[in-house]
Amino acid sequence: MTYKLPDTTLGQEIAAGQPTLWVNPSYRLGAIDSSDLPVSPADVVEAKQNWERLAPLLQACFEELRETGGAIRSNLVELQGLRDAIGYDSLDYGRLFIKADSDLPVAGSIKARGGVYEVFLFAENLARENGLLGEDDDVRKLAGDEARAFFSKYTVAVGSTGNLGLSVGIAARALGFKATVHMSSDAKQWKVDRLVRMGVEVVKHEADYTTAVENARVVAEGDPTIYFVDDEKSRHLFLGYSVAAFELAEQLKAAGVTVDEQNPLFLYLPCGIGGAPGGVTFGAKAVFGDNVHPFFVEPAQSPCALVHMMSGSEELVSVYDVGLTNKTEADGMAVARMSAFVATVMREMLAGVYTVADDDLLRMLLAAHETEGWRFEPSATAALLGPEFIVRHPHGEEFTAQHGIQDKLGDATHILWATGGSFVPDEQFQNFLTEAKST
Ligand SMILES: *Cc1c(COP(=O)(O)O)cnc(C)c1O
Repeated sequence: MTYKLPDTTLGQEIAAGQPTLWVNPSYRLGAIDSSDLPVSPADVVEAKQNWERLAPLLQACFEELRETGGAIRSNLVELQGLRDAIGYDSLDYGRLFIKADSDLPVAGSIKARGGVYEVFLFAENLARENGLLGEDDDVRKLAGDEARAFFSKYTVAVGSTGNLGLSVGIAARALGFKATVHMSSDAKQWKVDRLVRMGVEVVKHEADYTTAVENARVVAEGDPTIYFVDDEKSRHLFLGYSVAAFELAEQLKAAGVTVDEQNPLFLYLPCGIGGAPGGVTFGAKAVFGDNVHPFFVEPAQSPCALVHMMSGSEELVSVYDVGLTNKTEADGMAVARMSAFVATVMREMLAGVYTVADDDLLRMLLAAHETEGWRFEPSATAALLGPEFIVRHPHGEEFTAQHGIQDKLGDATHILWATGGSFVPDEQFQNFLTEAKST
């Protein structure tokens, strides 16, 4: 694919790997017209029901869900000390919250919402098709010996830069499946080690994420006992993530936050292939409609959603096509080519994309740790830079003016979606802190 970035300041900044903000000219307000889309708002409601039906099984499989009734939820925490530390002391920034998926149970990242959902749904369907779970049976039967013995004949496979592999591997092993994770060269060793300890087969590729996924898909195609979680195409992953919007709505209400025409809501969502942020965006549009404005954030060297969506091309544009390296410390976002499925759904639904430099990610990681004791991985901290772009960047000002909300920023709410971190081992986290202090 050849695509030339426009010869504008924006195009030059992207080509030079400098942080910037792109506003999506196709962003459209109004009810979601899903007639041409592969997913609909009704699917989000159905996914919520699936999660609820599976909750007792999740509770039976995971110690840490004993107290939650099987729900996999994270806290919504208003920024306090961190707010001033990263320069958001002005009233122009409205209210700021961290959505702490960094602490999500089971997988320690936002991938718990997608990977765990898809694996458990697959297990349930497989069991029903094979007569292991009848209409009236308790779904917890699937945590029993008979089901485990049956599941052990199947393999769940996935390609990953790390966290999706962790989530899918943990979920698959909890039910007794075999699991194979194809890791890209970006994958951190500790993620590999953790999977190996759980009995997951890890195939390490000397190539990037897209190649790791392709390899995993090819292996799976020839073998009916392999179920492939396809991050480039999966509706299940996408819909599993989308349910987070209901959780957010409930938590905002509890925090006394109104979301309406006078009180806009901004979301900042770290993006790799687009599944997690795309799913959350889709759910949020279904729940909050025109009053939510979702933005993705990507590393300045891996802005795959930005370059593809900006190109307007039918064929996928990769970051290599515009001369970028896809090299970043933010392994959760080290993806050169976005999902075509997500690109289609996001075309009119995504407000824009901003990019961040690795140095700033480490700076934010340090600030979040020093002020609030947060443990974020570099990918997660990318969300913290969003409000600055919307409130201060010229393209952000254009965006708010265009939507008539430039005077409502003081009444706006910003959600900084911290996507992962609690599983990062101490030693690795200390290295991040040391690195951050020296940059
Ligand atoms: C996976 C991941 C993302 C991005 O999700 P995609 O579905 O790949 O777009 C962001 N942050 C973290 C920590 C992740 O693990």
